[in-house]
Amino acid sequence: MTAEQGVIYRVAGPVVTAIGISPRMYDVVHVGNEQLMGEVIKIVGDKTIIQVYEETSGIKPGEPVTNTGEPLVVELGPGLLTSVYDGIQRPLPVLRDMMGDFIFRGATAPGLDREADWEFVPVAKVGDEIFAGQVLGTVQEGPMEHKIMVPPSIAKGKIEKIADNGTYKVDDVIAVINGVDITMIQKWPVRNARPVAEKLFPDVPLITGLRVLDTMFPIAKGGAAAIPGAFGTGKTVTQQSLAKFSNADIVVYIGCGERGNEMTEVLTEFPELSDPRTGESLMKRTVLIANTSNMPVAAREASIYTGMTIAEYFRDMGYDVALMADSTSRWAEAMREISSRLEEMPGEEGYPAYLAGRLSEFYERACRARTFDGSEGSVTVIGAVSPAGGDLSEPVTQNTLRIVRVFWALDTSLRERRHFPTINWLTSYTMYGNELGKWFTANVHDDFVDNRVWAMKILQRESELQEIVQMVGSDSLPEEQKMTLEVARMIREIFLQQNAYHDIDCFCPLERQYVMLSLIRKYSDLADKAIANGVAVDRIAYLPVRTRFNQAKYEANIDDELVAVAKDMEQQFKELGV
Ligand code: ADP
Ligand code: MG
Repeated sequence: MTAEQGVIYRVAGPVVTAIGISPRMYDVVHVGNEQLMGEVIKIVGDKTIIQVYEETSGIKPGEPVTNTGEPLVVELGPGLLTSVYDGIQRPLPVLRDMMGDFIFRGATAPGLDREADWEFVPVAKVGDEIFAGQVLGTVQEGPMEHKIMVPPSIAKGKIEKIADNGTYKVDDVIAVINGVDITMIQKWPVRNARPVAEKLFPDVPLITGLRVLDTMFPIAKGGAAAIPGAFGTGKTVTQQSLAKFSNADIVVYIGCGERGNEMTEVLTEFPELSDPRTGESLMKRTVLIANTSNMPVAAREASIYTGMTIAEYFRDMGYDVALMADSTSRWAEAMREISSRLEEMPGEEGYPAYLAGRLSEFYERACRARTFDGSEGSVTVIGAVSPAGGDLSEPVTQNTLRIVRVFWALDTSLRERRHFPTINWLTSYTMYGNELGKWFTANVHDDFVDNRVWAMKILQRESELQEIVQMVGSDSLPEEQKMTLEVARMIREIFLQQNAYHDIDCFCPLERQYVMLSLIRKYSDLADKAIANGVAVDRIAYLPVRTRFNQAKYEANIDDELVAVAKDMEQQFKELGV
């Protein structure tokens, strides 16, 4: 293809107008003498409007513009895991090695390392009839088996050649299908969802080990959740816990930094997280995409799609992928800035009218699916939202709420009370409750869902009673209601609070979540009986077993402790005559 040449007509920050080319929407163009990468975002008559992924200062009208005629693509193949990319898949460590901390404009390096060696093990053979998405062979990439699939561009065909077991580089030919050379690299346009054979119902939970999430507000594999919260409420800590402990195979973490130093934290902290499965670095099954606030906004806009495409690629191998975006508010702000440069009619709070559409396009790429190869994979999306001042009525939060089915609302007042995670149990919700209920019943316990309903009722009752207590004090409450407040406190302190930094408490398996909540419920039942027998709440509330119960989750032998708590509880209530 001959690249089409035009010239710059106007430069406005990250937005450049060109004339003399006739591209399609979202074609990639190279702008100016330095050939900076950009993407066509609007075409008006003979003028092409381009968002440029790099700083544009000093670029002038009259400089050349080249249309590549290709959309923005990512490279998919061995080498993705452990990578740290910018929003357009430039490997940041490679760029830094090339030119130090200050990355020059126009710098390029391929997304996948061309020099790395991979052990390819074929699973298909010459003569096999194959189709897009089928696995040709595998490559061991750290702890993961990376599946080399027939690219989506080859609908079906016959394998004419396939490489023997051996060492190859990503761009070596490992197969020939229909006369086409196949390497281990696939390219995919980031703004298009990758196809799947069949979408599956979201009826399997993503298990996180966080009690408030799994038991109270579970998310399905392939679901979408939003975590809104003001600065410092725990969005990043929650997402990092999910990255470490959830039963996703692969983590794609897109950092859209609020401040430059916050991204630096992600870049230093993330590689230090250890993988509880292997004890090694979590990076071995992670792809990190980092946009600092000093990187151009257009790259931030693209980063969400780059991350999503990488996540879908691993889903297509039959893996469960967790995609975290922290924070989608910064992404929306990038859209707002570009829109204002385009002089588009602003919508609410200056965001473009298409904000809602873009958000839903993104979250709707979350799914659980049957892959073309017949296995099951998923992309679960967890988007942090950081509304200014924690004001959930602003447009990004509101539009996100209309799309996602899980809402984990982080609460500043809980943080002030040092209740972590700060997920507000009264305002958070999940719409996967019914679909997942069957799974929990079949795989954990018949009463798992019933316990949740019971606990939610107590917590709601607590919030109603607190209003009364504020007006008239707790002394005037009847004994049963005083007890309800005590039981609610146990649910909060023992069950909902969970310390992300504690070796034992940081992860709680589902069976243990069930046992803990059941024990609180048992305490409540025994207390009701004691009260019916005329025992005062004060005596019930200060049974010594409560201290032991509060401490149990921090003990190395926690499961034995919980058994002991059950025994103590029975014994001590017996002493009260129950
Ligand atoms: P955000 O990303 O919302 O600005 P962070 O995730 O950085 O907030 O959390 C701020 C601080 O809150 C953390 O540094 C930590 O001290 C505390 N914190 C948050 N979540 C937890 C948790 N689950 N357990 C213990 N401490 C937490
Ligand atoms: Mg944060």
